[in-house]
Amino acid sequence: MPEDVNQNLGPEEEELISDRRYHRTFIASVLAVSIVAIIPLLIMTGTTYRQYRTVFDAEMTRPMVRFTTNGKQSLESFLSEHISALTMVIRERSFEELQENRTLERVLMNLKQAFGGFIDLGVIDEDGIQLSYVGPYELEGVNYEESIWFHEVIMRGVHVSDVFMGHRNFPHFVIAIRHDLGAGHQFVLRATIDTDVLNRLVQSLVIQPHGDAFIINRDSILQTPSQFNGDILERSLLPGLPHSTQTELVELEAQNGESLIVACAPIERSSFRLVLLRPSSALPTDWLNLRRELGIFLVISIILILGVIIGGSVWMIRRMQEADRLRALCYHKMEYTNKMESLGRMSAGVAHEINNPLSIITEKAGLMKDLLQLSDKMPPREKLVELVNSVIKSADRCGGITHRLLGFAKHMQVKHENVDLDLLLREVLGFLEKEAEYRSIYVDFQFPELQPTVSSDRGQLQQVFLNILNNAFAAVDDGGHIVIGVTHDGANMVAVSIADDGIGVPEENLARIFDPFFTTKKGAGTGLGLSITYGIIEKLGGNITVESTVGEGTCFTVTLPKGHTVD
Ligand code: ADP
Repeated sequence: MPEDVNQNLGPEEEELISDRRYHRTFIASVLAVSIVAIIPLLIMTGTTYRQYRTVFDAEMTRPMVRFTTNGKQSLESFLSEHISALTMVIRERSFEELQENRTLERVLMNLKQAFGGFIDLGVIDEDGIQLSYVGPYELEGVNYEESIWFHEVIMRGVHVSDVFMGHRNFPHFVIAIRHDLGAGHQFVLRATIDTDVLNRLVQSLVIQPHGDAFIINRDSILQTPSQFNGDILERSLLPGLPHSTQTELVELEAQNGESLIVACAPIERSSFRLVLLRPSSALPTDWLNLRRELGIFLVISIILILGVIIGGSVWMIRRMQEADRLRALCYHKMEYTNKMESLGRMSAGVAHEINNPLSIITEKAGLMKDLLQLSDKMPPREKLVELVNSVIKSADRCGGITHRLLGFAKHMQVKHENVDLDLLLREVLGFLEKEAEYRSIYVDFQFPELQPTVSSDRGQLQQVFLNILNNAFAAVDDGGHIVIGVTHDGANMVAVSIADDGIGVPEENLARIFDPFFTTKKGAGTGLGLSITYGIIEKLGGNITVESTVGEGTCFTVTLPKGHTVD
């Protein structure tokens, strides 16, 4: 076997193991494995992240709720203290005593010393007239009959007002208490409280850094100044603060888009609501560290996974490439073996065929020699010409046979040329002429008027049709019938059918006849013919199909790309 059969693969085999194909396989395998490996990792890291986030959120919000509840309690105690102090005054002093400014002054002084924050004190009768007043303003005799707060206190007994500017023109609020004198008579003790005390109390609740704390009323008007959300008596810049009856925690977005955690608690006996807030980005360092570690873990894992996947895929593709190369080499060898086998089979017939014309040549040449030797005269010219013609004819016949053999023995690499199918099929049949004659097998050609050509490799097509015809000859009995038909198959293809009336292929074998080494010719067949035929037709851009009925015959149809039409 020549050296190049082992080493040099044809362009088709090279294509089979081309880089492009492996590149695509490599990308597909890396993508598929990466998705399968990385998605669970991402889900796992995401879940861990969410769980830790929930824990840290709880840890961050718990102190907020605690602070707010403490603040609410402090503010409620502050109000209770002041209300209790005023109740005490009313209980201990008579209405008459309280109408005396001196007494009232003493009471105010005591209240200031004991609690701080009291600014003035007034006694108002049931008609809303301020009977006595001590404090920095001239408010004696002022009529509060129309004021809302006055109606409230008469109705409810105690009234804590919102913060307002009033006659005094600075932020303050009022605590007023009604006292029943009996017989349906009553009066009101009214004290003004400086909001500074409230402000200080609220400011002490601010959670540093970046936190804020303030009081708002029912209409979201700030009752104490806020660091980031407006000044006192302005509407709070934070929308959507909750109105529930207990401490509540919500996440809100500030006007600058910052996300805030806000705790809100109502202050009993007033319309005040305490609000504490901090940006949710002010995360504890533990959380930031954990987040960083999770990120690093994820990145390192992905790099490692990708490294292993890419390395593994490169290794796998190299193995595949090597296996494919060996397979292609094997196929190449098989093809060659089959060809050699066909060649061997043909040689016997050919030798027999060549012997005939050679003996004619020898006989005619001997006759010419005898004619020349027998007499000194030139033999008759016609006789000599007849003998020479016979020699030439026999030599031509030998030439034809060797020519066909040469065409068949050419190397197997695909070389596309315009092939005249009629000529090629008759040439191939020429190899089997003797057998057909000897076994009385009748071969019928059915060609269309406009004979098609195919763009194909002459030598390889010869091998294809020789394989199919060899099988047909083997399948038919002596005196059998074979029909070779050529038809146009659409605009671009030509179909060549080779039908015999031989034994046919059983249903269960039909799917296997193109498998390498599948043969039913025990001892006589290699099982390579059709598998190689299939491979060659694929390489030539064609297709082969088979139909068969046991006992009736078999028809192989080969479609091939069209060439230029022969005129
Ligand atoms: P081999 O001829 O060496 O057995 P092939 O691959 O050429 O190998 O053929 C495989 C098998 O297909 C044959 O053994 C035969 O059973 C079946 N076969 C092929 N052509 C025909 C046909 N025209 N009629 C019946 N059987 C066939």
